[in-house]
Amino acid sequence: MHEMAIMQSILEIAEGEARKHGSKRINRIKLKIGEFRGVVKDALEFSFDVLRVNTPAENAELEIETVPIRAECPNCSDVDISINDFTMICPNCGAILSITSGREMEIEYLDLE
Ligand SMILES: [Zn+2]
Repeated sequence: MHEMAIMQSILEIAEGEARKHGSKRINRIKLKIGEFRGVVKDALEFSFDVLRVNTPAENAELEIETVPIRAECPNCSDVDISINDFTMICPNCGAILSITSGREMEIEYLDLE
């Protein structure tokens, strides 16, 4: 379950930020996770519940925003394509698509006390 490793590094970043600002408590963490990452939200929330014990984020509220995968075709520039099955081929001309969003993996917002 790679969600555990992801949450571990998210908490490390959050704790680092809290330390930097002399804060002992994290109230809220908002994450932005792209669908392309294949992260299971429930597993991420579970990992958070396990890992936050005895950290400044122990009582923090976790919010996860999922960013859908969007892609565009190099030939059909006006076509905005949403991908559901990870097929990186343009349905219009068969060219290989480039991902424009959905790779996100970041802390968007951190509320420190
Ligand atoms: Zn195309």
